[in-house]
Amino acid sequence: AETVLITQQSHEELRKVIDANKTAAPGQQRLVVVSVSPQSRASLAAQFGLNPTDTARKLTAFFKKIGVHYVFDTSFSRNFSLLESQREFVQRFRGQADSQQALPVLASACPGWICYAEKTHGSFLIPYLSTVRSPQQVMGSLVKDFFAQQQHLTPDRIYHVTVMPCYDKKLEASRPDFFSQDYQTRDVDCVVTTGEVFKLLEEEGVSLSELEPAPLDSLCSSVSAQEPSSHRGGGSGGYLEHVFQHAARELFGIHVDEITYRPLRNKDFQEVTLEKEGQIVLHFAAAYGFRNIQNLVQKLKRGRCPYHYVEVMACPAGCLNGGGQLKAPSTPGKELLQRVETLYSMVRTEAPEDAPGIQELYRCWLQGEGSERAGRLLHTSYHAVEKASSSLGIRW
Ligand code: SF4
Repeated sequence: AETVLITQQSHEELRKVIDANKTAAPGQQRLVVVSVSPQSRASLAAQFGLNPTDTARKLTAFFKKIGVHYVFDTSFSRNFSLLESQREFVQRFRGQADSQQALPVLASACPGWICYAEKTHGSFLIPYLSTVRSPQQVMGSLVKDFFAQQQHLTPDRIYHVTVMPCYDKKLEASRPDFFSQDYQTRDVDCVVTTGEVFKLLEEEGVSLSELEPAPLDSLCSSVSAQEPSSHRGGGSGGYLEHVFQHAARELFGIHVDEITYRPLRNKDFQEVTLEKEGQIVLHFAAAYGFRNIQNLVQKLKRGRCPYHYVEVMACPAGCLNGGGQLKAPSTPGKELLQRVETLYSMVRTEAPEDAPGIQELYRCWLQGEGSERAGRLLHTSYHAVEKASSSLGIRW
């Protein structure tokens, strides 16, 4: 089933939709929208020896040249994922006596980890999982709901493709939770990996470095995107950092400028603490890679997990090192990863609450922070899968 999914969601599928548009009767075309992740952009920048801004503009030029109508950046939707994660953590911390709002909050933006949690640990881990949608799936809501309305189109008339650093994002996009029964369409129709974009460039005979850059598109007509933006924190989205700083301020009135990570068993298992009057009041961790995740789950099962929040990611070193990223046979893995990390962090960062357009969208599109609509479009739920009925294998 996983193989079928990978075939259904591929750059060939994107090409088929673009080709079908060329021969479609007037009014029957689908609007093709591509949302590019900042991790993929950094990997392509390293491959072509470009800076991230040029990469974003040249990628936009490439996609438009082959028939894509709009190219967006998933850093924009990540603003919502981070803000909702901050809000959810503070709420759950305040209400921790309620077993329905269990601590630690376990981040849920990584579908590799979610797949493992649902299939291997049944309902045990579900109460701990953050209900916030990943940046990919918030982008799905933005494109198929907000942007569709702006374009006066029904969601099924938009074909939404994301460019991601991993194959597991294809699994995430195909979850029934992200399928509209009313319109028989997914929030994200097709996920292509960074490597598949590279294949597409090769098949089109295009070198990214030689393309003339194009202006960036913006989802919000009131915001003009001159250059890409990103967030503080590591290459997996900066969840720990944003939630920690927000919680320190909101719950304890402490402003934290710099986060100091303390490595535990290895560099992929680190923790951060906040002390007040000699007591640890916030205890966060980042657990990357399968071994560290297993260790975390064991701690939880034994009732010996001291953390309030854990940023969990399936790939060692996180999303910049995802299985869908580009490999360079001539460059050692570590050296390439360092280059990708440098390029990723070269982009201007902004606090999600200050990002242009976000507050306006909360007001106009979501009918306010914490509204029923924000809950429906920015959050999701999880489902324990009985091992016997599981048809999708875990690649670990
Ligand atoms: Fe994908 Fe790996 Fe990132 Fe998880 S950690 S979202 S599997 S790239």
